[in-house]
Amino acid sequence: MTNAYKIAVLPGDAIGPEIMAQAIRVFGILEAKRDVSFELITAPFGAHAYFEEGKAFPDSTKAICDDADAILKGPVGLSHEESKKIPVEEQPERGAILPLRARYNTFANFRPIYLSPEMTHFSPLKQEIIKDGIDILLIRELVGGLYFGKKERGINEEGQRYVHELLEYTEEQIRQVLIVAFEQARQRKKKLHNIHKSNVLMSSVFWNEVLDEVHTEYQDVEVVHLLVDAAATALCLNPGQFDVMVMENMFGDILSDQGGGILGSLGLMPSACIGPEKAYYEPSHGSAPDIAGQNIANPYSMIGSVAMMLEMSFNMKEESAMVWQAMKSVFEAGFSTADLSKSNEDIQLVSTDEFGDKVMAKLEELL
Ligand code: NAD
Repeated sequence: MTNAYKIAVLPGDAIGPEIMAQAIRVFGILEAKRDVSFELITAPFGAHAYFEEGKAFPDSTKAICDDADAILKGPVGLSHEESKKIPVEEQPERGAILPLRARYNTFANFRPIYLSPEMTHFSPLKQEIIKDGIDILLIRELVGGLYFGKKERGINEEGQRYVHELLEYTEEQIRQVLIVAFEQARQRKKKLHNIHKSNVLMSSVFWNEVLDEVHTEYQDVEVVHLLVDAAATALCLNPGQFDVMVMENMFGDILSDQGGGILGSLGLMPSACIGPEKAYYEPSHGSAPDIAGQNIANPYSMIGSVAMMLEMSFNMKEESAMVWQAMKSVFEAGFSTADLSKSNEDIQLVSTDEFGDKVMAKLEELL
């Protein structure tokens, strides 16, 4: 019997539609080569949804996402100046992304920071530091902490404007993401870096207490504790020490972008946002308004998000591995998108569409 999946496709803003157009080609190729069918339903989400419908996450889009087996989301957002045209509460992060995460309780954000041995020339790190490539799985808690805590602005008794923004976690929120991280560590190198700031933050003291409790069930996994500031340095000086890393929401937001930096571009950063019943997949980066409309964005992060969906939502592990292989083979053959090619004259520049063409041709060959 044919497996049939329904996917909500949210192309997003700026480069979102450009990289999404390449990523969804994977589904057509799989349908032609495998006994599987995909129904793709496109819906507005982000700044363009606000301008078209008055809401960054319209009710019609919510219904499409509710009904889908999985959600494929492009990056959303505008430049700093342009975003001022949208009321604060409807700006894409607050009005669309955080509500999407809350709606499906996508508490575990998988952000692979990966560079194959053949792609190490893309990294700004020296060869003796990067050695045989980078292979880190960063797991970020995605529905708690500062981003979801109570917020308040006002004027205090001295007449000063003030802001309160609470960092809130329940023990269950922490436990559930730690279990995911320990499970991943168990399947990989049995080493888990716990990133925290317990020398200052009470929330980290609490996080570490819960970690110790969960660790009793995973005695085969070695835990290494590292303060988040030290982790930022270590990611540059010795990324090879890391395998699985786990951390709270804001630390993960920042360190995972640093992950993109050590790879050479945020365009190499796909991600999966996993909840108990539904998952959505998105590049880790934003909508890159500075390069939108030029056909130069790197679609690896978006195509990689499809690869993660195939593996994690549809259990199509072999096909997922082939998508990764197809993308690597294009880079390994000496082609590169503009974001990665700055310093290497041997590299042949390709546009967003041309990268997509080459990846799809290779995927057809592999399948
Ligand atoms: P950004 O991630 O969009 O861009 C940072 C830099 O990386 C830019 O120079 C950009 O050109 C480059 N870049 C990012 N993705 C690329 C790709 N695929 N190919 C080539 N180059 C790429 O960050 P920003 O400029 O700070 O934010 C732009 C907008 O995106 C803002 O409105 C922000 O709020 C939003 N944003 C959205 C998400 C999301 O949708 N999950 C995440 C982060 C930021």
